[in-house]
Order: sequence, then C-alpha cells, then structure tokens
Amino acid sequence: MSHAIVANKPGGPEVLEYASVEPPVPGAGQLLIKVAAAGVNFIETYQRSGIYKVQYPFTPGAEAAGTIEAVGEGVEDFAVGDRVATAEATKTYAEYAVVDVDKALPVPAGVDDHTAAALPLQGITAHYLMNSSFRVEPGHTVLLHAGAGGVGLLLTQLLKARGARVITTVSSDEKAELSRLAGADEVLRYEGFADKVRELTDGEGVNVVYDGVGKDTFDDSLRSLRIRGAMVLFGAASGPVPPFDPQRLNAGGSLSLTRPTMGHFVQNAHERRWRAAEIFDAAANGTLSVRVGATYPLAEAAQAHRDLEGRKTTGKVLLLP
Ligand code: NDP
Repeated sequence: MSHAIVANKPGGPEVLEYASVEPPVPGAGQLLIKVAAAGVNFIETYQRSGIYKVQYPFTPGAEAAGTIEAVGEGVEDFAVGDRVATAEATKTYAEYAVVDVDKALPVPAGVDDHTAAALPLQGITAHYLMNSSFRVEPGHTVLLHAGAGGVGLLLTQLLKARGARVITTVSSDEKAELSRLAGADEVLRYEGFADKVRELTDGEGVNVVYDGVGKDTFDDSLRSLRIRGAMVLFGAASGPVPPFDPQRLNAGGSLSLTRPTMGHFVQNAHERRWRAAEIFDAAANGTLSVRVGATYPLAEAAQAHRDLEGRKTTGKVLLLP
C-alpha cells in the first residue's frame, strides 16, 4: 500500500484526507514516479471547494518531481532511476504518481528535487504569460498582482531580465520585501493601486496587467492600463470576475482582454520543452531564483490549502510524501 490525499466531496480544506491507497500502475507510454515533492497550486483550491467540477474520490495535484520507479510499455526516452518533473499529471498529492511520457520533463543535474517540483507549473505559466499571452518588450511597464506569490516572484524576475519596469501589489510588509528582492521597481498595496499606477506612469498607465487575483482587482486593473493596453486575467484568487460589458474595453482605450490557461500554451512536445527548458536553464544558471516558501508533510495538505487561501504563503508551496 501507499498513501495519497483523497477528497470524497467538495468543501473546505478538511475534506482533504490522508488515506491508504493502492499505488498506481503505469500504462503504455507512462512512467511511475516516486514523488519527492508535489507542487500545490491555487487551482487545487478551486477544485477542492467545488468552483471547478471534479470526480470523486478525488486526489488533487498536477505538479510533482521525483524518480522513475517503473516504465510502461513502449517507453524509450526515459529509464528507471531518471529524475523527472511535470506540470500536467493528475493525482500528484501522493507518494506515487503516473506521468504521461510526453508530459514528463527531464530534470537537469543542477536542479534539486524541491526546485524541480516548484518550477514546472508556475514557471511555464510565467513564461507563456510574458511571451505569448502578451509579448513584453524591453521598456514596457507591467503591473503584476500578488507579487510575492508563486507566479509573482518568478514572473517578476523574468520580466526584469527582459528589461521591463515592474510594478507589483502585495498585502503585507514581508511580502513587499520579497517582491522587491525579486526585482520589482515599485511595490504597492492593493488599496487605491489604480491611482498610484497612474502617478507612477505620468498619467499614462501600464502596457499590460497580469491579474491572478480576479474579482477584487479586475476593475482597477482595467483602469491602470494605457491606451491599447492588455489585460491578462489569469486567475481568481479572490473569486471569479462577474459578467462584463465589452464596451468597457472601448471606453478604457481600445483595451484587449484575455483569460488564458496553461494547457493551451503547451499544445505539443516542442512548445512544452521550449518553455520548460528556458525556465529550468534559468534556474540552473542562477538567473532565476526559486523560493520555496513552505513545505508540509503530505498528510498536512489541508493545512497547506488553508495557508494558501489565507494569503499566508509566499513563493512556492510543496507537499513532501
Ligand atoms: P499565489 O502564491 O500567488 O497565492 C495567491 C495570492 O493571491 C495570495 O498569496 C495573495 O497574495 C493573493 N490574493 C489576493 N487576494 C486574495 C484572496 N482574497 N484570497 C487569497 N489570495 C489572495 O498563487 P499562485 O502563484 O499559485 O497562483 C496565482 C494566481 O495565478 C491564482 O489565481 C492561480 O489560479 C493563477 N494561475 C493561473 C494559471 C493559468 O494558466 N491561468 C496557472 C497558475 C496559476 P497577497 O496576500 O500579496 O495579496
């Protein structure tokens, strides 16, 4: 037997139970990995609470790093003992997880297991947000909410390396300090941020807003954009944005709005490997510093969710089986 987190119904963090389960068996084209660390991502709180529908019994988790224990039929590019990571598995809140070969990312020697588990989902997200949802160019000014969060700390560093000016929002002094250390040029609190962004940009506004907070920030995010600016709404940590009149994009200055999700930006092996390689290389050569803000034993997944939803975490949150 092995252990995994299992929920039998939607609800609060308490529905996440530590249970004994049969270890999964890799099918054709799959790998079985012994999970060294599983990444916790905000989407799992939406799935757990019922905002996103799932099937029960439900084991959360898309992200993990670990060592291959067994390979299914037809697997050629990976062997038992190799270290791999993924952003696109299922049921990774577990001691063992199955990963499709085409979604497995080889982990370079210079990247440790915790970094490897921390990077794939939020790193690939940061990569597609700044390259593909909206292409940030040197000299652009960017507003990024939750600057000390998992995506926030990675995206800030990548944007600074690109030559952008980065304005972030955060909710505490500790988070402000972390956001600054990641390279943010200006760190704001949420209250009144749209007016402050105008002041900081000589009345013009920013080229792009990356908004993963959603309901609480959406209106002021739109107000922070310059003419022909882009609103990239990529999450809903404060709740979903209510229905919206597209005419507001006209009034705001011919703005554009997109609501992207990672799966659409890793459409094939080439695209996945390109994004992952750039992120892992940046971590291996020190350009990108990865902050694991908290680790929890797997059995304490519920507490990890409480802390993530309670805005108590910074950087990446990991579960350790
Ligand atoms: P974070 O580590 O950024 O945690 C969320 C942060 O949001 C909190 O720490 C908090 O920072 C901020 N926040 C603001 N308001 C609230 C609120 N009411 N309740 C809780 N948190 C709030 O998480 P991630 O980096 O994992 O994800 C950030 C966002 O990106 C999420 O919305 C997530 O769903 C989204 N996402 C989207 C992806 C995509 O492809 N579309 C992929 C990955 C993530 P503070 O206290 O400073 O305000």
